[in-house]
Amino acid sequence: MTRQDIIIVGAGPAGLIAAGKLGKAGYSVTLLEKMEQTGKKLRMTGKGRCNVTNSRPKSEFINAFGKNGKFLHSAFSRFFSNDLVAFFQQNLHIDLMEERGGRIFPVSQNAHEIADKLTQWATQHHVTLLYNHQCVELLLHNNRIQAIKCKTPNGLKTFETKAVLLSTGGTSYPSTGSSGDGYLLAQQAGHTIIPPLPALVPLTTKESETFKLSGLSIKNAQVTVFINNKPTHAIFGEFLFTHFGLSGPVILTLSRDVVENLQKNKAVYVEIDFKPALTEKVLDARLIREFVRHHNKKLKNIMPLLLPEALGMLCLEQTGVLGDMWCHSVPAADRKKLVQWMKHFRLTITGYRSLEEAIVTHGGVCLKEVDPITMQSKIVSNLFFAGELLDLDADTGGYNLQAAFSTGWCAAEGMLSLLTQL
Ligand SMILES: Cc1cc2nc3c(=O)[nH]c(=O)nc-3n(C[C@H](O)[C@H](O)[C@H](O)COP(=O)(O)OP(=O)(O)OC[C@H]3O[C@@H](n4cnc5c(N)ncnc54)[C@H](O)[C@@H]3O)c2cc1C
Repeated sequence: MTRQDIIIVGAGPAGLIAAGKLGKAGYSVTLLEKMEQTGKKLRMTGKGRCNVTNSRPKSEFINAFGKNGKFLHSAFSRFFSNDLVAFFQQNLHIDLMEERGGRIFPVSQNAHEIADKLTQWATQHHVTLLYNHQCVELLLHNNRIQAIKCKTPNGLKTFETKAVLLSTGGTSYPSTGSSGDGYLLAQQAGHTIIPPLPALVPLTTKESETFKLSGLSIKNAQVTVFINNKPTHAIFGEFLFTHFGLSGPVILTLSRDVVENLQKNKAVYVEIDFKPALTEKVLDARLIREFVRHHNKKLKNIMPLLLPEALGMLCLEQTGVLGDMWCHSVPAADRKKLVQWMKHFRLTITGYRSLEEAIVTHGGVCLKEVDPITMQSKIVSNLFFAGELLDLDADTGGYNLQAAFSTGWCAAEGMLSLLTQL
């Protein structure tokens, strides 16, 4: 049996920042990681470039987390994006830069730099980092954790401890190590788990004729979600046709609303406007101009001037407008059909892809049972939580990583204050 002041379970962004901060304060800290490397998911973030945070104000961060965002008020007041940027520069010597939408990335554009330097920072502060150590049980006595049990390459091992931080992540992309272990551990301590669901996830559609557009990315479209025939959410930006339906940034963001409503058995469809900058009248005028300019060409040959080629063909097929017609003879009624199709292309949403493909997990440790200032369990006083294990998930844009870092930082402060009282 090994005795440590603090055990941290999970070496993702939340666990690493907490471990380094506690080690720096002089406590003996053991960081247990079930994989053979730290931050496997962190290394994949932002398509390998790591969108660490966002320059937007706190109120927008809170909104990005939906109704549970208010839990983060206190954590963001004490460790927010400006603190994270300063932390990276001063402690890890990583310079960051801002891109479109306030998204902040390392100048190196390399997520490994963030994961490697965070790991070095923690171990420099005497954190004992043990790979291939999977925490499987919390050993409780009189409502306190006395020790934890771990699966290791050399069999089961027990660590006695004064306090435990669970930072095991959610359950999306389970091959990275975040496979939901933390839910079982939290349940052992008496915590409620809000059932995990995929968030920021691609959507499946009923209309299979679009599957042949797989791989086609549309840059400037407006996508509107309709729930039970009422528009609820519209976003402008980029999306992707896939072999099962839709993906890409706009769809992932809209999926948070869609998954919740599909769960409630509501009817969901999306309407895509391929020409959001033009009203129907202006688009009609544009078609007239093109038809006059190319009056002696066939309609099918000028469609690529209006839409990507495969999409143009689908437009003709679905509207029934004849591609072999000469441009000078397209009737007004057919023009109207083309305009309607380009402005109101509808796809029925039948479901969503699995947690394996979701960027984050919706659900997790119930926030009512956690102190938002210290991240301390309200049930077991020497247990703390941080990161995606908590019932927190946000849009894309760097919000999820900031939440992992902020809650990790605050959990470390909470543990410091508990340990000084012991
Ligand atoms: C493809 C992809 C891209 C993303 N891009 C971005 C982005 O650019 N910006 C952004 O803000 N967010 C992004 N995210 C989300 C972000 O990565 C997560 O929200 C964040 O990593 C959560 O951090 P965490 O520390 O809570 O958990 P994780 O990063 O999931 O780390 C948890 C760690 O705990 C370990 N662990 C689990 N169970 C045990 C156990 N029983 N014992 C020991 N160790 C255990 C795991 O192996 C893992 O190392 C992305 C996610 C994905 C999947």
